[in-house]
Amino acid sequence: MNQTADVVIIGGGIVGASVAFHLAERGCTNVLILEREAEQGLGSTGKATGGVRAQFATPINIQMSRYSIDFFTRFEEATGHECGYEPAGYLFVATSEAQLDYLKQTRARQMAEGLTNVELVGADEIARRVPGLRTDDVMGGSFCGTDGFIAPLKVMRGFTARARERGVRVWTETEVKGIEVKGGRVAGLQTTRGRISTRVVVNASGAWAAETARLASVEIPVAPLRRQLVSVQPAVPLAEGLPMVIDMSNGFHFRPEARDVGTTPGVLLAWPDDAETPGFKTDFDPSFTKKVFERARKRVPSLVAGATLNANRCRAGLYEMTPDHHAIIGESPGVGGLFLANGFSGHGVMHSPATGRILAELILDGRASLLDVSALSPERFATGQLLSETSVL
Ligand SMILES: Cc1cc2nc3c(=O)[nH]c(=O)nc-3n(C[C@H](O)[C@H](O)[C@H](O)COP(=O)(O)OP(=O)(O)OC[C@H]3O[C@@H](n4cnc5c(N)ncnc54)[C@H](O)[C@@H]3O)c2cc1C
Repeated sequence: MNQTADVVIIGGGIVGASVAFHLAERGCTNVLILEREAEQGLGSTGKATGGVRAQFATPINIQMSRYSIDFFTRFEEATGHECGYEPAGYLFVATSEAQLDYLKQTRARQMAEGLTNVELVGADEIARRVPGLRTDDVMGGSFCGTDGFIAPLKVMRGFTARARERGVRVWTETEVKGIEVKGGRVAGLQTTRGRISTRVVVNASGAWAAETARLASVEIPVAPLRRQLVSVQPAVPLAEGLPMVIDMSNGFHFRPEARDVGTTPGVLLAWPDDAETPGFKTDFDPSFTKKVFERARKRVPSLVAGATLNANRCRAGLYEMTPDHHAIIGESPGVGGLFLANGFSGHGVMHSPATGRILAELILDGRASLLDVSALSPERFATGQLLSETSVL
């Protein structure tokens, strides 16, 4: 049977759900989300750490975060559902003058972008905030108290639920197999549930975005890269209200697990393993535990001494990397009606509110009024106007 929709969104993760929500809020409700899995959230969204921060280095990332974090504070009012926002903060810990200078410079840029609550903190203050952290080599750090955590699946479900109440349809177990282009414009989709007529398609397919774009003969530089998380139960209970803590000497970072993760939330340990190579690898590699434990032992020995592994909560998922670690947002060059919301490079959860609103504006108004997103245009890779985000975790 031939179905029609004003907008079809490929991918039912947090980004697709946010786009659907924002379209529906604007009165555009003949929208269909297509998700190939049996349920939403089985892509990267369900694997994410749940960190949200505005402490970035580029104006566009700072602005995307500022809008999104503010949105998380009023998520329940906007969607009728809670999102688990906890403003526990992000604490960057510097162990060299160069790192401290970097934090000072990025703080100045953050202030210029209106993010005025980033504090520079000394080693004593860091030790006070994070009991057990080794600070003998610490030069200082930066802390932003409105950074913190949200629950990615709650956000995705909240966006989806409100969008559905407004009339948006969600089809699971429906894979997009082809994108029809006629006269340089999207005309429809081929799916495992038949053909769908539409003139507007949103590529919200996460780490699989390049494959999806290729269905319309569009090339975008989005590569899947595995990221792994280790969950441990420390022998000594953690202090309450710990922030996300980032050891800038090697990228090791950790957060207290969300309270609803189980009866005894532990700690999530993470580290961007530079031996990782692009590919669709979503299996958790047990040898990663040793690597992350080594870094944890150096910075917070009490986290791992006598700790037990929560093996069922260790996981691996995919970052969707672009060459400049920034998202690709905009209408595809050469194919009218194909909109890209891709390549978040590990920040798609925290940037989902701004992304959804911007996509709705691009689709309905032809331009984004929330923010100038020209820096994120898909054309930048061909014209060489790449961005530079140095604060990637
Ligand atoms: C370990 C880990 C930790 C992370 N931590 C954070 C964090 O702290 N903060 C943060 O902001 N981000 C984090 N991220 C990144 C974040 O998870 C992603 O940026 C975000 O989930 C992307 O959302 P999405 O909706 O674009 O993609 P996804 O959630 O992957 O959704 C895409 C969906 O598209 C579907 N799909 C693909 N192709 C097709 C097709 N042809 N037809 C139909 N459906 C299709 C997939 O099945 C999938 O469900 C983390 C990621 C990982 C792996």
